[in-house]
Amino acid sequence: MVTKKGNNVKLNIQDTFNKELPADPDHSNTRRQIHEACFSYVTPRIPSQPELIHVSDEMLSAIGLLPGDQSHPDFLAVFSGAKVMEHTQPYAMCYGGHQFGQWAGQLGDGRAINLTEVVHRQQRWALQLKGAGETPYSRSADGLAVLRSSIREHLCSEAMYHLGVPTTRSLSLVLTGDQVLRDVLYNGNAAYEKGAVVCRVAPSFIRFGNFQIFAARRDMDNLKKLTDYTIRHFFPHLPSGSTESYIQFFQEVTDLTLAMVIHWQRVGFVHGVMNTDNMSILGLTIDYGPYGWLEGYDPDWTPNTTDAQGKRYRFGNQPSIAIWNLLQLANTLVPLVEDTKPLEEILYTFQKQYPVQYLDMMRQKLGLHNEETNDQQLITDLEHTLNLTETDMTIFFRKLASFKKSISSEGENQDLSLIREAFYQDTIDDAIQKSWLDWFDRYRLRLAKEDKTDPERQTLMNQVNPKYVLRNYMAQLAIDKADQGDYVLIEELYQLLKKPYDEQPGHEKWFAKRPEWARHKVGCSMLSCSS
Ligand code: AMP
Ligand code: MG
Repeated sequence: MVTKKGNNVKLNIQDTFNKELPADPDHSNTRRQIHEACFSYVTPRIPSQPELIHVSDEMLSAIGLLPGDQSHPDFLAVFSGAKVMEHTQPYAMCYGGHQFGQWAGQLGDGRAINLTEVVHRQQRWALQLKGAGETPYSRSADGLAVLRSSIREHLCSEAMYHLGVPTTRSLSLVLTGDQVLRDVLYNGNAAYEKGAVVCRVAPSFIRFGNFQIFAARRDMDNLKKLTDYTIRHFFPHLPSGSTESYIQFFQEVTDLTLAMVIHWQRVGFVHGVMNTDNMSILGLTIDYGPYGWLEGYDPDWTPNTTDAQGKRYRFGNQPSIAIWNLLQLANTLVPLVEDTKPLEEILYTFQKQYPVQYLDMMRQKLGLHNEETNDQQLITDLEHTLNLTETDMTIFFRKLASFKKSISSEGENQDLSLIREAFYQDTIDDAIQKSWLDWFDRYRLRLAKEDKTDPERQTLMNQVNPKYVLRNYMAQLAIDKADQGDYVLIEELYQLLKKPYDEQPGHEKWFAKRPEWARHKVGCSMLSCSS
């Protein structure tokens, strides 16, 4: 790959993180505690037989490359980790974090290596390889990623973007040709799997944990440097270097995080590992591991088997965890703000704002555009009714868009035929049927207060209720095929999920409940952090 400063100009390299922030002076790739530095230089591991499996055409052009550039041998060399681009100095970031509520000390990029930053059309993008070998932060692990988890990250990043959810992106998916040992369920049954590398892309990969590590070490000098750097590059409209700028910075991170979580709840996304090291300072969904989508609507559901006991990161708990994580970030900013009160007030606004924004978002899901006093109750009762029998969230909301405001001569909405497809069970008992019909009656009365026609409401609802999401079983089918060397399904899902709100006739088979075979299958309903 060639850089603007090199001979065959392509990427517009403009590094800032490793140019403006303190580096670890030790260049050895040994696992250790790193103090007073934001990152350590490290060279990606050379894969034995890299093979490009998939490229996001959108990210290709976003970073300034042209269609077809992925066929250049340098593309594979750079994005597999085999070759370091001229004028770049790859590095791993130092960060800490709270894992499952406990302070875990130094974590850092244990299997991520930042290649460089590029600027294209005034947009800054950091390019980061995930799975390209060990770094000083790898602790007891190998720095590698497997094909399975890399397909999940690559497809999901792009799918989330098209759902309108703030997220890191993914440029490429590469097989390394190396074998990686994994014990998927941590039960002593380790097996070799194909190794892979994804190139993730985001304006920045800075996490809450990058700030936390300095605060934990009482390194105020570097905490300030990192915060000033973040504000300068990613919140340039804020004042710089003053107490006020740090307060406003926290307010913006809070707002961005709140917006992200509202989107997660809207599309039924469960992150699975909301540790503070997995919280982007830009409010992006980051670190796709044991994530999943709600199929049956169940606020208690988490796809993460590692969290099966406490269910800390269950769907319904994501907003509370977001505040908890923001509280940890606030704690780290106290020395810069020199007062706790303004930070507490911001956290309090999250607490007040979340129900307001959630209600607003749910109104949109229901096609309600006026505000009525009983809307909260209507929504609470809907959530309760959805949970009476396993009801597919995505299918339910999509079907509900066809609800008719008035009872027609055919007696529509008088039975459950409209939403029957969303039920996982064939027979629904009478009490549950009655609950649904009662709710429909109230919904119909409520819709009478709206001036939109049925087709108008349907169009609006279909813009916020996706038809297609990356259900775990879909990703698993793509993974199984890819394991056999067939990558067609990866491309099919990638294209499908570019238009998640469109009807896409011909792709109806993906508008379907999770098949029964996937109910308890590893990878479909059970995922661990090692995914
Ligand atoms: P995660 O739960 O994936 O966010 O990872 C938590 C920490 O463990 C981060 O510091 C990761 O970089 C690190 N980590 C996860 N998997 C690996 C791996 N295979 N090799 C090295 N470090 C890893
Ligand atoms: Mg992580």
